[in-house]
Amino acid sequence: MQFSSKLIEEAVEAFSSLPGIGRKTALRLVLHMVQQPGETVDAFASALTKMRSGIQECEQCHNLSDDKLCTVCKDDRRNPQLVCVVENIRDVMAIEETGQYRGRYHVLGGVISPIEGIGPAELNIDSLVGRIDERGIKEVIMAISPTIEGDTTIFYITKQLAALDVKVSTIARGVSFGGELEYADGLTLGRSIVARIPYKVD
Ligand code: ZN
Repeated sequence: MQFSSKLIEEAVEAFSSLPGIGRKTALRLVLHMVQQPGETVDAFASALTKMRSGIQECEQCHNLSDDKLCTVCKDDRRNPQLVCVVENIRDVMAIEETGQYRGRYHVLGGVISPIEGIGPAELNIDSLVGRIDERGIKEVIMAISPTIEGDTTIFYITKQLAALDVKVSTIARGVSFGGELEYADGLTLGRSIVARIPYKVD
């Protein structure tokens, strides 16, 4: 693609660096921006800059948050003794979308994967164990991918929790979840959380 403008070219470069955006789509977006009033584009750019500089990890559950504690952790109406352990923030969003879960979360930041060099120390596991210990959490629901890595992660965490008085359950198998939670249909996902099953170490 040849551009008569270096400015357009740079903007196309920026857009096409986003996942799922090819150069054609990037150009369409840039040409759309060109036609907008200056204030509209300023507001767009400023929303991104403000988001990037203001966003932080909730110090309790590692969810994305505008403040030290996220809206879920701050919500007194939610059960503080029930924690759903998920791989990533998109999983939190998918479960919230179902409207069926009224506990809190803990975002691991991935699953144990020796091939990818991800060990327990790279994940938010210590903070989970500490949190369960200190806050007297009664039940942990593992909403983790049904893969070898996911199973390894559940097994590892359960071992870490063995000395604590906490119930561990998993969401029903056969539901596409974990990394794909966001694609699972809300009703099935919601049901699988409500009808969770106790986890047993074989
Ligand atoms: Zn939180």
